[in-house]
Amino acid sequence: MKTIGMLGGMSWESTTSYYQLINAGIKAQLGGLHSAKIFMHSVDFHEFEQLMRHNDWDTTARKLAAAAKCVETAGADFLIICTNTMHKVAPQIEEAISIPVLHIADATAQRLVGDGIERVGLLGTRFTMSHNFYKGRIAQRYGIEVLVPDPHSQTIIDDIIFKELCLGRINPDSRRKYLDVIRQLQQDGARAVILGCTEIGLLVQPDDTAVPLYDTTQIHAAGAVEMALG
Ligand code: GLU
Repeated sequence: MKTIGMLGGMSWESTTSYYQLINAGIKAQLGGLHSAKIFMHSVDFHEFEQLMRHNDWDTTARKLAAAAKCVETAGADFLIICTNTMHKVAPQIEEAISIPVLHIADATAQRLVGDGIERVGLLGTRFTMSHNFYKGRIAQRYGIEVLVPDPHSQTIIDDIIFKELCLGRINPDSRRKYLDVIRQLQQDGARAVILGCTEIGLLVQPDDTAVPLYDTTQIHAAGAVEMALG
């Protein structure tokens, strides 16, 4: 079994999900007392929230590249960055290390391609929804059209991520707001919706809507299990 390197803590609420999903996945494949081999570098998310707020992506990249280097030196065979947003600096992280990075957007897009979905909605932080590093990658590499909510809805989605979900607050009223946005994306032509923030699965689950949901935390963790055992 390969050793998984994880950049976690962004936020720790979703890193907990990753840890459980990866260990459960290894146990499901190997049985008994088997569990995942992991080296994790878990950051202080407060620092990174401040950097994002100031659009300081250079410092963000430098800090995460240094963290990735630690994980590589510790002995990880490959790396997962346990947040969608921080894939904005995935190229700089990849450049700093020699182990492969399992990119969250690739893992998700491959599922969409497998399911024949050509137009998809995307929910995530304002950076993931409005910058091009994520939706551009899915469109250019996989030929999938990516729809995002209108600017007002993007603000609602982003606020709930940082002011509630990353703090472990699950609010039924916020779930309703998410479901309204998901419905709107479907009306706009999306055949499915990517939960492109690793905390959204804590709030919205497949049973809440008839629209197929692609939970990036689950997909990324499953990809890590497959890569660890491959
Ligand atoms: N975990 C979130 C994501 O998947 C947001 C936190 C962050 O900005 O890293 O994008």
